[in-house]
Amino acid sequence: MNKRWRNAGLYVLLVVVVIALATAFFDQPRQETQSWRYSRFIDEVQSGQVEKVTLSSDRTQAQFTSPDGTGRVMVNLPSDPGLVDILTDNNVDITVQRQTDDSVWVRVFSTLLIPVLLLVVLFFVLRRASSGPGSQAMNFGKSKARVQMEPQTQVTFGDVAGIEQAKLELAEVVDFLKNADRFTAIGAKIPKGVLLVGPPGTGKTLLAKAVAGEAGVPFFSISGSEFVEMFVGVGASRVRDLFEQAKSNAPCIVFIDEIDAVGRQRGAGLGGGNDEREQTLNQLLTEMDGFEGNTGIIIIAATNRPDVLDAALLRPGRFDRQVVVDRPDYAGRLEILRVHSRGKTFAKDVDLEKIARRTPGFTGADLSNLLNEAAILAARRNLTEISMDEVNDAIDRVLAGPEKKDRVMSEKRKSLVAYHEAGHALIGALMPDYDPVQKISIIPRGRAGGLTWFTPSEERLESGLYSRSYLQNQMAVALGGRLAEEIIFGDEEVTTGASNDLQQVARVARQMVTRFGMSDKLGPVALGRQQGNPFLGRDIASERDFSEQTAASIDSEVRALVDQAYSRAKQVLTNNRHILDQLAEMLIDKETVDAEELQQLLISNDARMASIA
Ligand code: ADP
Ligand code: MG
Ligand code: ZN
Repeated sequence: MNKRWRNAGLYVLLVVVVIALATAFFDQPRQETQSWRYSRFIDEVQSGQVEKVTLSSDRTQAQFTSPDGTGRVMVNLPSDPGLVDILTDNNVDITVQRQTDDSVWVRVFSTLLIPVLLLVVLFFVLRRASSGPGSQAMNFGKSKARVQMEPQTQVTFGDVAGIEQAKLELAEVVDFLKNADRFTAIGAKIPKGVLLVGPPGTGKTLLAKAVAGEAGVPFFSISGSEFVEMFVGVGASRVRDLFEQAKSNAPCIVFIDEIDAVGRQRGAGLGGGNDEREQTLNQLLTEMDGFEGNTGIIIIAATNRPDVLDAALLRPGRFDRQVVVDRPDYAGRLEILRVHSRGKTFAKDVDLEKIARRTPGFTGADLSNLLNEAAILAARRNLTEISMDEVNDAIDRVLAGPEKKDRVMSEKRKSLVAYHEAGHALIGALMPDYDPVQKISIIPRGRAGGLTWFTPSEERLESGLYSRSYLQNQMAVALGGRLAEEIIFGDEEVTTGASNDLQQVARVARQMVTRFGMSDKLGPVALGRQQGNPFLGRDIASERDFSEQTAASIDSEVRALVDQAYSRAKQVLTNNRHILDQLAEMLIDKETVDAEELQQLLISNDARMASIA
């Protein structure tokens, strides 16, 4: 139902309520009420003038129709036990009233009941009539549509940093919105849809808002997951609603977050559970095709799973432009840190460049979160400036969750965790081709009992290329924790604390064999189809395209790789047992050991890099 109807309905309702209240109140005194004294009442009764009396339930009042029939008479009664006898003796018909019977509220209610019922019925009739054919009887979709509209986002390109390429491509969209006439005049068609592709937190929403802000147009947003509801047809009606609103506010930006929630490939459902999503997607496609020419509506959608999107969405005239929004590199992170350090007071020792170096892999959201955490820490510590200490603590927090300092650890457990982490760290430090150790800590954090941080190399992160020896070292490092426990405390004492490490080892080994062709026995073949199905997470679904025999060889190759890593790690730890002990001691003592302290320890012990096996 559109707004005008609803408002009209509300007005009518209001007027009726007022009238009903008024009549209920004025109703009461309209009949002339006289009041008699008790003595007169008794006289009249005894002279046979009164035929019928209504007594109030507490027997303090009597009412009856006046003898001349013109009105009501009210009498206040004293507590006279003989009254009822007098009345019966004179053949007066007695009724005792229930207390509430005559109250104003009962009247109000009874007067209101019928008009309100009528209105409710009228409401539904109007509703159905005005929303036309094809709409749901009760219009679930519309009543709850969570389309958000910001007339002005106040975000500009200045607030978005470190993703220059994406900004450049979207600057064009701003131009379309601002100068639609110029493009229309020479017959150019303005693009309808732009798809922003990138991992969460990289600034996709921010970028879309900035486009609206720069162009000075309203920003409509809805999340794909909100289209998909329990009732079939609700999603489709939300899409319709969204575009209705957009059309009446053009030029504008419509932002659909998590479009993969609706836009997955159709016809791939297990069972029949996908009707709703398909209908929603179809409606979206219809709407996008529906607005012809340059209406000034540009749809920006965001996803981190472009691979699962239905091909129909990516066709020309729909989301035919794709803009990749990736994790920022060093320069980008520096820019983002600059943007988010606005308005914060930093001590002199804070060096944004250093922070940017320490944070490879961080997204814009991580960085903004990081500076905010640092500010909160500084405030908690009653400082007037944020110093590098707070920043460093905040980095650890963002990486691994808050420390759980108050958790009491027994001495035994403490030394176990210390050896475990020392094992990881020592192997990491002594392997020639691996990331440098940044920090080791035995303070529990998140779900981890302790942690060893490595600084990933920028180059490796960016290229995504890892050498065979790097992967072998990675497995050895991951096994180092468990191994140290074994060496020091014996096989019987090892704990479940290494389960994450072991999973990582298994994953790396399997990928080396089946995806990277790094097994000597099986050679450079990719085994298992990785495309997977859109409705099962792609990562779990790797289809088998090899024989039982190959499967067995894969298993034995994986085993061999893990065994090899295990014996290398064991060798390093047994050869450097004295360093392992010292490092564990340091950890038990200080709880954290940083890169420099570790370096000192290695130098003073004249440690040597392990040879590549
Ligand atoms: P996405 O939509 O890609 O998940 P958001 O746009 O919601 O990410 O980013 C969340 C927050 O992180 C933003 O509000 C902003 O504060 C910060 N942020 C993310 N990327 C950037 C960036 N490139 N420049 C500045 N701030 C950013
Ligand atoms: Mg977002
Ligand atoms: Zn571990």
